[in-house]
Amino acid sequence: MKDIATVSRTKEVLDKYGFTFKKSLGQNFLIDVNVIHSVLDKAGITDRTGVIEVGPGIGSLTEQLAKRARKVVAFEIDQRLIPVLNDTLSAYDNIDLINEDILKADIRTVIQEKFQDVDDIVVVANLPYYITTPILMNFLMQDLPINRYYVMMQKEVGDRISAGPNTKAYGSLSIAIDYYTHAKTVQQVPKTVFMPAPNVDSIIVELIKRETPVVSIDNEEQFFKLTRGAFQQRRKTILNNYMLVFEDGKKKKQEISEMLQSAGIDPKRRGESLTTGEFAEIYNKSKEYKG
Ligand code: SAM
Repeated sequence: MKDIATVSRTKEVLDKYGFTFKKSLGQNFLIDVNVIHSVLDKAGITDRTGVIEVGPGIGSLTEQLAKRARKVVAFEIDQRLIPVLNDTLSAYDNIDLINEDILKADIRTVIQEKFQDVDDIVVVANLPYYITTPILMNFLMQDLPINRYYVMMQKEVGDRISAGPNTKAYGSLSIAIDYYTHAKTVQQVPKTVFMPAPNVDSIIVELIKRETPVVSIDNEEQFFKLTRGAFQQRRKTILNNYMLVFEDGKKKKQEISEMLQSAGIDPKRRGESLTTGEFAEIYNKSKEYKG
């Protein structure tokens, strides 16, 4: 039988089930098996690896994962795809399908139940682009026993994820991802490998989880809020941005300026020039300046 990730097989499956794509669910299916092999080679998946896939679609990527991994657990929100997947993937006995929204799923319990017999756990996904950031942050903020991520996403989001300071793409997302992982782009992906072809270019990003976060923070949500505040208006200095966010603007300019200086940060700098470590300094000082 031909691979699912081919034009002819995909068309055949879609016709058989009268399947119509839901744009609102980010449904763009992979029709090129070479792209899949190339990412799986990089992901180092072996018969000792447990894989979590988000959004299997009709199983294009799932099939190739099942050939290499010990086990694949795939979360698919679209109920219409479950009978399709049960059909297309019927030859594999190492796939568990879960008909759930990945943002609502209890991933920790699923890992405990399904991956007792693996050496490492990897997330591999051609993500639904409309929720790329919430999906990644949901995985990362839970501190799950997942070693690495190979995720396809809109190029513009991938650029922001792997950007460093003093670049246009650098922002609070780059910092949040850097806090948890080592991130890098591993491959550009042309629009032509999807059906239907999306309007945007795509990219595959590798995230390797850090053993411990890059800096010490007691409240990650508050820390990320503070980093977002620094980018509210990119052209403004950090001092002026923080005038807007601190204490609903009630904190005095002088006080914020002193707080930044005590963290070793020139208040005239812009958010885009600050590293994750420098934001951590600001965050830790800002707690002393409360009230
Ligand atoms: N993996 C398939 C492929 O590469 O051909 C399909 C990828 S498609 C870009 C994204 C998939 O994610 C779709 O199957 C869509 O129904 C599913 N999806 C969308 N939102 C989801 C969510 N919140 N939880 C789980 N799956 C979701």
